[in-house]
Amino acid sequence: MVMQRIFRAVIMGPPGSGKGTVSSRITKTFGLKHLSSGDILRANINNKTELGLLMKTYIDQGQLVPDYVMSRLILSDLRKIDQSSWLLDGFPRTVSQAETLDDACSVDTVINLNVPFQTIEQRLTSRWTHLSSGRVYNTDFNPPKVPGFDDVTGEPLVQRDDDKPDTVARRLKAYKNQTEPVLEYYRSKGVLNIFSGTETNKIWPHVEDFLHRKLSSAEQKVA
Ligand code: ATP
Ligand code: MG
Repeated sequence: MVMQRIFRAVIMGPPGSGKGTVSSRITKTFGLKHLSSGDILRANINNKTELGLLMKTYIDQGQLVPDYVMSRLILSDLRKIDQSSWLLDGFPRTVSQAETLDDACSVDTVINLNVPFQTIEQRLTSRWTHLSSGRVYNTDFNPPKVPGFDDVTGEPLVQRDDDKPDTVARRLKAYKNQTEPVLEYYRSKGVLNIFSGTETNKIWPHVEDFLHRKLSSAEQKVA
């Protein structure tokens, strides 16, 4: 009998590198569960939870939310799905978060979307989001069918407060200082895989090929 082993993946990349888009393609193609730290935070903000309102001040300023808050939120959600394969998106974003995750479970593979900063600055400021689902559109290269409205629900799209130019600059700085060291962390563990490019649609086929190979060899090992 071929038993599929549990597969644990992390997707990384600077803000606006296409993590959300690539993640939804991965979960659709490979059936992994998707956990997005940004979506979890935005859901808390939407529902006006105490935590959400507190975290909004960090997010709107382009700062990372404190490690202990983020780690608690993510780990409690991860525990609920720890019997299935998953893809973590937006977490870990600091070395301390990566260590916390390591204490809970080991990561099989890390996919890093390596998109130049110049591309990203332009992209983020033309990004529109459907808040309740996390679906993202871009007025330059991935517009919704009806301008300003979500393709699936028909609900209005919004521009995130943190996609304003000043905030984008601060987010990129936080990425350089706090998140890039996480890449080194995973490189030293031998699980880092880098996918470079300026367009999500060109990066995606390489990610897809890579995961097809990864997942079929994972099956063979257990068979
Ligand atoms: P992408 O566009 O690739 O999805 P993003 O920069 O929009 O990336 P989100 O993952 O949506 O980022 O997160 C939005 C904000 O939420 C971040 O700028 C940060 O303030 C906060 N945040 C998300 N994940 C974390 C985390 N792991 N640790 C700390 N703060 C986080
Ligand atoms: Mg995101």
